[in-house]
Amino acid sequence: MVNINPNGLLPKRIAVTGGAGFVGSHLCEALIARGHEVLCIDNFYTGARTNVQHLLGHPRFELMRHDITFPLYIEVDEIYNLACPASPVHYQFDPVQTLKTSVIGAINTLGLAKRLRVPVLQASTSEVYGDPEVHPQTEDYWGNVNPIGPRSCYDEGKRCAETLFFDYHRQHGLGIKVVRIFNTYGPRMHPNDGRVVSNFIVQALRGEDITIFGDGSQTRSFCYVDDLVRGLIAMMESPAEVVGPFNLGNPSEFTIRQLAEAVIRLTGTKARLVEKPLPQDDPKQRKPDISKAETQLGWQPAIALEEGLTRTIAYFDTLLAGGMDAPHLGAAR
Ligand code: NAD
Ligand code: UDP
Ligand code: UDP
Repeated sequence: MVNINPNGLLPKRIAVTGGAGFVGSHLCEALIARGHEVLCIDNFYTGARTNVQHLLGHPRFELMRHDITFPLYIEVDEIYNLACPASPVHYQFDPVQTLKTSVIGAINTLGLAKRLRVPVLQASTSEVYGDPEVHPQTEDYWGNVNPIGPRSCYDEGKRCAETLFFDYHRQHGLGIKVVRIFNTYGPRMHPNDGRVVSNFIVQALRGEDITIFGDGSQTRSFCYVDDLVRGLIAMMESPAEVVGPFNLGNPSEFTIRQLAEAVIRLTGTKARLVEKPLPQDDPKQRKPDISKAETQLGWQPAIALEEGLTRTIAYFDTLLAGGMDAPHLGAAR
């Protein structure tokens, strides 16, 4: 008998590399909810079992500890490649490993997809645009990236991974999907990974100084994780000829100071704002043009910053109160 999932689709076996991370854990959850079998592959470098604890007993979920810089022989119908540390603090901790994960990890993932002849999605990043001179960023902009700076291991690694995806597509006819993810936030962000949303919320809830780097006039556009996950799945389920790259992000742009003020208002904290030095090569502005994803995937974000922040604050509030398993609360690596 053919097994039909709750959405009336045939279930698939889907591999998610980096599935125990922040975005990956939400993606695994959404794919399970759609009736698929999920093989979560992670070396727990920045992710953790606790992120997928609630899925561990599920009959259609399997967790595998594996480093994607080593070959992997499995049988699946689709692959999402999310494995890579994503916050500057994490990806700069061991830059060589970051590059290996992006480049060798992409080669292994593509080799796997090529042997199986299955579609493979790459979680690329807005960082491929570097410190952009085009605003908002469209997919045809080639970027302004320093090849030898402290962010290069991430930016150039992701750029090389995109090149590999498009070369496997052209050379081997592989079914690829490339999305460039813009700043995403939500529950299960690592509280110590140094990213701005988690930093500000944790500082506000603890009543510590809220650290604005530079004068806070630099901008970012923040996408709530549920919106992003919908976009990832829409991309994977799009027709084979749709390969991207597509920007996925929320085009509402805020200065970092505005973000800090929103967090202060929503938490009611007495914490005060302090300015710290701006890190080297910190992009001054970032805002996605999402017209391609809108027209070709029918996707757009639905959750406004205030609503998303409220949900994320509630998560961190419980976490910090000790109401959750949190090996994460140690120092950032
Ligand atoms: P994250 O650090 O929470 O998740 C990354 C996961 O990959 C972790 O679970 C980590 O343990 C795993 N990993 C790292 N190296 C690995 C390796 N060699 N082998 C196997 N697993 C490995 O980060 P995230 O925010 O969930 O990001 C997920 C993906 O989305 C990343 O590829 C990131 O570059 C991309 N992305 C995220 C954002 C964002 O704002 N969150 C923005 C742009 C792109
Ligand atoms: N690979 C893998 N799993 C597979 C098939 C390949 O991990 O199921 C790895 C393999 O180690 C190889 C890489 O993917 O080094 C690239 O594979 P490809 O077939 O493109 O190249 P080749 O095997 O010729 O190096
Ligand atoms: N930032 C900040 N205070 C913090 C952490 C980050 O002002 O405590 C700034 C950082 O300099 C950058 C922006 O917030 O301009 C976003 O930083 P994040 O590390 O979250 O992401 P990315 O720089 O990769 O967009």
